[in-house]
Amino acid sequence: GQDGRVARIASAIRVIPDFPKPGIMFQDITTLLLDTKAFRDTIDLFVERYKDKDISVVAGIEARGFIFGPPIALAIGAKFVPMRKPNKLPGEVISEEYSLEYGTDTMEMHVGAVQAGERALVIDDLIATGGTLCAALRLLERVGVHVVECACVIELPELKGRDRLGDKPLFVLVNAA
Ligand code: AMP
Repeated sequence: GQDGRVARIASAIRVIPDFPKPGIMFQDITTLLLDTKAFRDTIDLFVERYKDKDISVVAGIEARGFIFGPPIALAIGAKFVPMRKPNKLPGEVISEEYSLEYGTDTMEMHVGAVQAGERALVIDDLIATGGTLCAALRLLERVGVHVVECACVIELPELKGRDRLGDKPLFVLVNAA
């Protein structure tokens, strides 16, 4: 059942203390990708949840949203739209600034990749403070896209990123300390 699959997914994620700097417990999903059953189960759990939700866009956040997003998009018959770091996309973009622990960052999306009224799923590997997912939500909502839900493999609940998303539903497979 679902619980057995989630337990295997959770145990396939490697935790590296003090990366990339002291005090951060880095949740490394590259070990999940090495476990072919756990990787497949991860995709299947999202596909089972989203296949009948009339979603036409899967928006994946750079970089690890680019690993989980495309197989989900293909399986549910949606297009994949990359949400990228600045100055990577060659076409006309819209941008959204967001705050980090120190300073700010910018997220970009191609104009014309999505149309007003489309229904989107936003996917990343992990939610910490929620700032990254919020920026993606704002970008999509600015162009009239309805974000049905945000989804991550891992949530760090202590950082309360979920609260920052307001009313927007968030679905996660694994909670980490
Ligand atoms: P946030 O905007 O604070 O929710 O941070 C989420 C983004 O930062 C995601 O794209 C994650 O890949 C990355 N991230 C933040 N904290 C961690 C962590 N402890 N382990 C792995 N990735 C992280």
